[in-house]
Amino acid sequence: MAGTYRDLIVYRDLAEEVQRTSDVRASVSFRHWIGKVLYLVVLEGHRRAEPPLTALVVRRHDGRVGEGYKAVLEVAGEPPITDDLARERHASAARLDCYRHFGATLPPDGGSPALAPLLQQRVSKQRPPVPTPRPPCPNCFLQLPRTGVCDSCG
Ligand SMILES: [Zn+2]
Repeated sequence: MAGTYRDLIVYRDLAEEVQRTSDVRASVSFRHWIGKVLYLVVLEGHRRAEPPLTALVVRRHDGRVGEGYKAVLEVAGEPPITDDLARERHASAARLDCYRHFGATLPPDGGSPALAPLLQQRVSKQRPPVPTPRPPCPNCFLQLPRTGVCDSCG
């Protein structure tokens, strides 16, 4: 997956893949153990000084790396990122590092970090907040300042 530019994998599929290749079937939902597996991947990647492969693993329902990404920052000795979208952007940059490091064919411009398509869609849909218009001064009809008291008419 790191060998293909902008390729991602969802936790569920990765869990399936882990079980298939190890020939060990877990008796409980992947949610109970995939975090631990990924943590080992984070440690190993860090030991090898490779970019964090776990940045490529996103949640199926929202395209986010989610809480699991904390381990990447922690192991790298970076401060935690509390803002959700900032964390996702950090992961996007890490993914680009992965594609570069693991030999993906990059576009001629070298590629750029990208959110998971599902998340990007949601972010693009969010409109900037519409400012509430302030009423005009009944006397001079200029828009009243935040204080509600007209600058010209007092
Ligand atoms: Zn006025």
